[in-house]
Amino acid sequence: MSKDNPGFATLAIHAGAQPDPTTKARITPIYQTTAYVFDNTDHAAALFGLQQFGNIYTRIMNPTQAVLEERVAALEGGTAALATSSGHAAQLLVFHTIMNAGDNFIAAKRLYGGSINQFGNAFKSFDWNVRWADMSDPASMEALIDERTKAVFIESLANPGGTFVDIAAIAEVAHKHGLPLIVDNTMATPYLIRPLDHGADIVVHSLTKFMGGHGNSMAGIIVDGGTFDWSKSGKYPMLSEPRPEYAGVVLHKTFGNIAFAIAARVLGLRDFGPTIAPMNAFLLITGIETLPLRMQRHCENALGVARWLKAHPKVAWVSYPGLEDDPNHALQQKYAPKGAGAVFTFGLKGGYEAGKTLVESLKLFSHLANIGDTRSLVIHPASTTHRQLTPEQQIAAGAGPDVVRLSVGIEDLSDIVADLEQALELV
Ligand SMILES: *Cc1c(COP(=O)(O)O)cnc(C)c1O
Repeated sequence: MSKDNPGFATLAIHAGAQPDPTTKARITPIYQTTAYVFDNTDHAAALFGLQQFGNIYTRIMNPTQAVLEERVAALEGGTAALATSSGHAAQLLVFHTIMNAGDNFIAAKRLYGGSINQFGNAFKSFDWNVRWADMSDPASMEALIDERTKAVFIESLANPGGTFVDIAAIAEVAHKHGLPLIVDNTMATPYLIRPLDHGADIVVHSLTKFMGGHGNSMAGIIVDGGTFDWSKSGKYPMLSEPRPEYAGVVLHKTFGNIAFAIAARVLGLRDFGPTIAPMNAFLLITGIETLPLRMQRHCENALGVARWLKAHPKVAWVSYPGLEDDPNHALQQKYAPKGAGAVFTFGLKGGYEAGKTLVESLKLFSHLANIGDTRSLVIHPASTTHRQLTPEQQIAAGAGPDVVRLSVGIEDLSDIVADLEQALELV
């Protein structure tokens, strides 16, 4: 291990954590406490005034959570991070930090269905307005940008279609217009792609999926890339204007390259309250320790399943960028040469009904609305995760009526294929 530049697998196990100084416990304890004792009133005042870092109340910070934050920031190559109760909570806090009523942002059409709902419906009540763009053509989003545009949002590997986008080209267009690029890296994880290395400014995750990896805890995180200039007067007032509740502190001046993460914590998490539970932070830390091993196996198995499906006479098409003839293969090779992820879609020649029969006949696969578990998972997006969308939106999001989505687990490949084989016989 090189001391100054530890590798990814080493960081996944060690970043952010030391043996507990009081008890000598080797594993990070679950600090199941809501509050922390002050040394004296001056200490309390310094913490409340943001003059000193330290624990006050678990709605805002917690020592188990802090280890998780430091670990994910290290894996993504960011300067700081803020963990939240879910991926959606992380997205809410990201946009709350940069948006005012009447502002807009550009988002990729191909997104997780829940994000399409959050952006297109829930955010409307704050008068934050999303403008959908086809990110396969980054230049096309320029026409959507105006003086009230505050950010560009993409997924590094889009759910459910499993498609890659040209992150560097999109970052270039965003930066040309003075906008930060926010990347949801849930499906790829930093093991496959580190968006900050390709020009992204902020990374968000649903840690619920591959990062935790065992389907046992909800969590999200915001990673601050530390490179975006938030100082432009009036454009991002939460970061560039004096904060009355913190004695006139200007966050970007006081906190420099961690200002975004601080703002999301002390103005977003503090006031909305989607705090991660210490127990979940602990489960996430533990899960992340095996992230590199799991992702490697997930990708190997997914490629094996995709190849097998592609050769099956009842399968109409398979969309997996790891396949050499996939239209997305070149982008996958550029951005994620270690693997194409484990979530992908395919269609059966028998359409909607055949897809339904397949989903209901699988035995090893669990039929449920999640991805990134050790277990293999299956769902029919059009009737579930993407149900609230219009048929046009479903197709644009890669979730048309004939689409079946798999999240390939880390069981034996032969058993995964055998399960698909028996179910396809019934179709
Ligand atoms: C699941 C998911 C989310 C939302 O995360 P939650 O933890 O469920 O709130 C966001 N983006 C992607 C790509 C997801 O898969």
